[in-house]
Amino acid sequence: MTATLVIPCPHCNGLSRLPAERLGDSPKCGRCKQDMLLSRPFDLTEANYAAQIKGDLPLLLDVWADWCGPCKSFAPTFEQAARQLTGRCRLAKLDSEANRNLAGQLGIRSIPSLILFKNGREVARQAGAFPLQSLLEWLRGQGV
Ligand code: ZN
Repeated sequence: MTATLVIPCPHCNGLSRLPAERLGDSPKCGRCKQDMLLSRPFDLTEANYAAQIKGDLPLLLDVWADWCGPCKSFAPTFEQAARQLTGRCRLAKLDSEANRNLAGQLGIRSIPSLILFKNGREVARQAGAFPLQSLLEWLRGQGV
């Protein structure tokens, strides 16, 4: 039996069903025909939050702000992680200044903050920036 994963499209927020073994084949969205799985972080906003935390492929969210030095030095690490985790975890960034309500709703007290979602629920959270290896180890510990 083949496992089927339900994954939200990062472009149009439509949900697509993908067989697990197709994850490595650059699957396209059934609705907008664009790439479902990105090798770079995409922007999460109040508009696409509810759609994007859903699905069987975990979503790792980096909550940041433009004035935050540690957030900026962490950005290249987060981009590297996105390349390494393509097809295993989706990575997104939330600008906490542009999305203050959502940052408040998520109870963000310090940035950068990392939140891992699976199937619409928060499953883990860490404050502060990590080196790439520690980030990947933390995610492995969460089953990513
Ligand atoms: Zn789409």
